[in-house]
Amino acid sequence: MAKNIYDFDEGGREMAGLLGGKGAGLAEMTRMGLPVPPGFTVTTEACRSYLLTGAEPAGLRDELERHLSVLERAAGRRLGDPHAPLLLSVRSGARFSMPGMMETVLDIGLTDATVHGLAGTGGGKRFAYDSYRRLLQMYGSTVLGLHRGLFESALTRLKTARGLADDRALTADDLADLVEVYKAVIRSAAGEDFPQDPREQLHRSVQAVFHSWNSERARLYRRREHIPDDLGTAVNIQMMVFGNHGPRSGTGVAFTRDPATGRPGVYGDYLAGAQGEDVVSGVRDALPLAELEQLDPAAYRALRGYLALLETHYRDLCDVEFTVDDGTLWMLQTRIGKRTAEAAFRIAAQLADEGLITQDEALARVTGEQLGRLLFPRFADSTGRRPLAHGVPASPGAAIGAAVFDSAEAVRRAAAGEKVVLIRRETTPDDLPGMVAAQAVLTSRGGKTSHAAVVARGMGKVCVCGAEQLTVDPAGRRFTTPDGTVVAEGDVISVDGTAGTVHLGVLTLRTSPVAAYLESGDAGDLVGDDLVRAVDRLLHHADGLRRMEVRANADTPEDAARARRFGAQGIGLCRTEHMFLGERRRLVEAMILARSDTERRQALKALLPLQRADFTGILAAMDGLPVTIRLLDPPLHEFLPDRTALTARLAAAEARGETPEPHDRELLAAVESMHEVNPMLGLRGVRLALVAPGLIAMQVRALAEAVVDRRRAGGDPHAEIMVPLVASATELRLVKTEIKQVLAEVSTATGTDVDLSVGTMIELPRAALTAGRIAEEAEFFSYGTNDLTQTVWGMSRDDVEAEFFPAYLAQGVFDTSPFETLDRDGVGRMVRIATAEGRETRPGLVTGVCGEHGGDPASVRFFDRAGLDYVSCSPFRVPVARLEAARARLDDAHRHTGDTR
Ligand code: ADP
Ligand code: MG
Ligand code: MG
Repeated sequence: MAKNIYDFDEGGREMAGLLGGKGAGLAEMTRMGLPVPPGFTVTTEACRSYLLTGAEPAGLRDELERHLSVLERAAGRRLGDPHAPLLLSVRSGARFSMPGMMETVLDIGLTDATVHGLAGTGGGKRFAYDSYRRLLQMYGSTVLGLHRGLFESALTRLKTARGLADDRALTADDLADLVEVYKAVIRSAAGEDFPQDPREQLHRSVQAVFHSWNSERARLYRRREHIPDDLGTAVNIQMMVFGNHGPRSGTGVAFTRDPATGRPGVYGDYLAGAQGEDVVSGVRDALPLAELEQLDPAAYRALRGYLALLETHYRDLCDVEFTVDDGTLWMLQTRIGKRTAEAAFRIAAQLADEGLITQDEALARVTGEQLGRLLFPRFADSTGRRPLAHGVPASPGAAIGAAVFDSAEAVRRAAAGEKVVLIRRETTPDDLPGMVAAQAVLTSRGGKTSHAAVVARGMGKVCVCGAEQLTVDPAGRRFTTPDGTVVAEGDVISVDGTAGTVHLGVLTLRTSPVAAYLESGDAGDLVGDDLVRAVDRLLHHADGLRRMEVRANADTPEDAARARRFGAQGIGLCRTEHMFLGERRRLVEAMILARSDTERRQALKALLPLQRADFTGILAAMDGLPVTIRLLDPPLHEFLPDRTALTARLAAAEARGETPEPHDRELLAAVESMHEVNPMLGLRGVRLALVAPGLIAMQVRALAEAVVDRRRAGGDPHAEIMVPLVASATELRLVKTEIKQVLAEVSTATGTDVDLSVGTMIELPRAALTAGRIAEEAEFFSYGTNDLTQTVWGMSRDDVEAEFFPAYLAQGVFDTSPFETLDRDGVGRMVRIATAEGRETRPGLVTGVCGEHGGDPASVRFFDRAGLDYVSCSPFRVPVARLEAARARLDDAHRHTGDTR
């Protein structure tokens, strides 16, 4: 028969899966010789079996009795003994810490009979009844499922009747009265009496803890934290010790260092005369832990000693729960403590300095996501004030600015030196200039991967999206909150992208020294800052360790330069579409509307020098490093005015009796003829190159000439040409022929050899599945994982994210959006197949990733395992990718999954 129960001295930290984190920690402390009240743990396996079958595993009761006898001997008291009763706590505790999500029942074993015994054995009547009423309340709510409010309101009524503010002022008789009231509450609300048999109390509490694994809030928490639903919780049964045992007693929590900053010192809270949950529940204000030194110097000294011991033993920040029972210190819990991003970096570096952990381990203790968080400025505190609205915290950080409601206004005000927040219902590519100009972007629609969110994160801008309570009125240039507050254009608001909140007025801002350090490219003046030093050190260690290169997606010389300062080793994706926007739209229009080859050639000729200058700038900024230029990708009609706008303009002119602009008519005709039901799957990418004469030739010529210019200027340009949306090897062969021809022409004309390599994006399933053939033509592969995800799933991102992703996430179809973290099973499989078959054809084929996933920690890990040569991501994500590419190299033993959750 399986062993269902382990005494604390039979377990240890390595058994967290079976005993839960709490049980493993209690066992480990017992093993270390720390003063832990004796007890034992019912395994998670027993819980799983109970939840599956609805019955306790066979033999559990007998085992429980056996372990209880051992416990009774150790405690010198017996459960239910009317003279010297043993009291127990029954505590939940899963593999991963789920703070406050499941249940615990304290003071089990008290009955009308034993309460006198407890009072008699030194505790006194007040203490005994205080414990009894706590048991009634916890049992009533946890085991019987009664509303906590029933007990709380009874307590409040009693305090009001007695004219008291604090529980501690209640007398023994008050508490004895309260016990009767609580029993009556249970009888009437639960339809049964509170059991006077301590064993019934115990058994039913154990079952209630099993059940609490599936409580709604526990499920919700697991979904958010990506904790599997089938682990189950262990149950810890332990002798009670009493912080409510008079003035020399109390209870508290402590950390081995500051979990907010990571700095060494004494941190925690202490509450005298209190039991269990009182500290965290905030019933009364706790004291800073340091004050325990005055109250009880011996207990304080002992605690500090144990904290030091635990930190050295676990070699990490630990947090503990403890209780002082009439001057004796008891340790009730320990675990690896959760910490802020800042603390994570400081602690990792400190522990490495102290020689407690290796550099590799230090690297394992920080995440790319945490590094990302350090890059953004913060509000000193926004917690004290009521926000105007809550939305999705899409891009962390803090920003303050005047509300503006369209892109042009944002640009205008920013140019005049004003800080602005761009507010839209949702953003489109047309809002880009405004987003660039703004400090933050706020939308009332869309989720974490909406256009606004993705673009803002890419740019390192603060973004709160999907703030649905706000009614955004772009025409009226204002938004309204549900309580009627109106924020008009120019009103100053603060946007907290970390918390996902929006505030009226100015909150205090703190800039990030880590961002300043990364921007400057070296620790320089900032080495005085220990956080910067920690980041610098871990990033350097990461760079020495990682196998994959990290490139950036950058379209402008400024972005390229920034990416380089952030450590990018080239550009993995330079989009060229923005080179056709703004003033240049006219030329694109002329090209599209051209009635003859001559007209078209003229328009292209006018574009050529502009495009050449763009390329020269980028190649200069990335001198010596590879720059992958993607040929024009989006459908051409995206460069024409919007159909509805044009139609409206023409109709308005007609209504006024004017002759509409002939140019507008032509445009509308073109827009209508080019209209596509599903542009994403329409005439774009390589397809344009094959049907729009001259366009691609112009781009290639501009690039080749830019390369020549750079070489003549003494530079070292490394351009590569990337063809988007290829589905078949033939497409690529045709375009490649044209490209190579233009390159040859430029080579001849300039007397310089410009033989640039030509590769392709792999972003269609067919390309991935015929990669072996495509590699005959392609000199490199770059996985466009955004489009590949869309086409593999058959989902248009912009349509699905708002429409049904929330429902899909809630129902567990996926636990993160495949647009955020690469879907390994589907899209990832395509990547593996294409890489293997591509390399079979062309050994040494260079492969990279240029989708958003290139900056996502979990996805970076996958790409490393899949053997890709590089990832490319937005400049701000480059440090994150550097760190994660290195962490991917650490073996699993090093990596702290779970423990810090
Ligand atoms: P959680 O996981 O929510 O922290 P715990 O099982 O740790 O729940 O217990 C809730 C509270 O009860 C904690 O403050 C804990 O310290 C206290 N507690 C648990 N067991 C005992 C015990 N044997 N004696 C005294 N206090 C206890
Ligand atoms: Mg606890
Ligand atoms: Mg694409």
